[in-house]
Amino acid sequence: MDVLSDKEQERFLVLESCHSTWFFDPVEQKFCRLMKDSKSVATEWLHYDKLVVHEDSDAFVVFLDASGTKLLRSWRHTDHCEQCGGNATAEISLEDLRKVMQL
Ligand SMILES: [Zn+2]
Repeated sequence: MDVLSDKEQERFLVLESCHSTWFFDPVEQKFCRLMKDSKSVATEWLHYDKLVVHEDSDAFVVFLDASGTKLLRSWRHTDHCEQCGGNATAEISLEDLRKVMQL
C-alpha cells in the first residue's frame, strides 16, 4: 500500500477477506474497503462502533452503530481458505486445465 505512509500503516488495522482488504482506523472509528478485483476501487470511509475479530474462527463482525442493529460480517482470507477455496482450488484448476490442454 504505497498510498499510505509508514505511520498510517502502523495506525491502521488491516484485515484481508476473499474479495476485499479492510482498513480499520481505531482512533477515529472509521473503516474502508479496497476491492481486490479492481485495485483502484475503494469505498468511502465509514464510521463503525466496534470491531469483533473471532479468535477461534476466521470470522469478524463490524458493528456500525452502538445498538448493534447494523453490522457487517465477513471472513478473513487464509492460505487454505474455506470461504473461497484459497490457493488449493486455483492450483487444482490449473492442473486440470493442463490435463485438458494435453488431450
Ligand atoms: Zn478466501
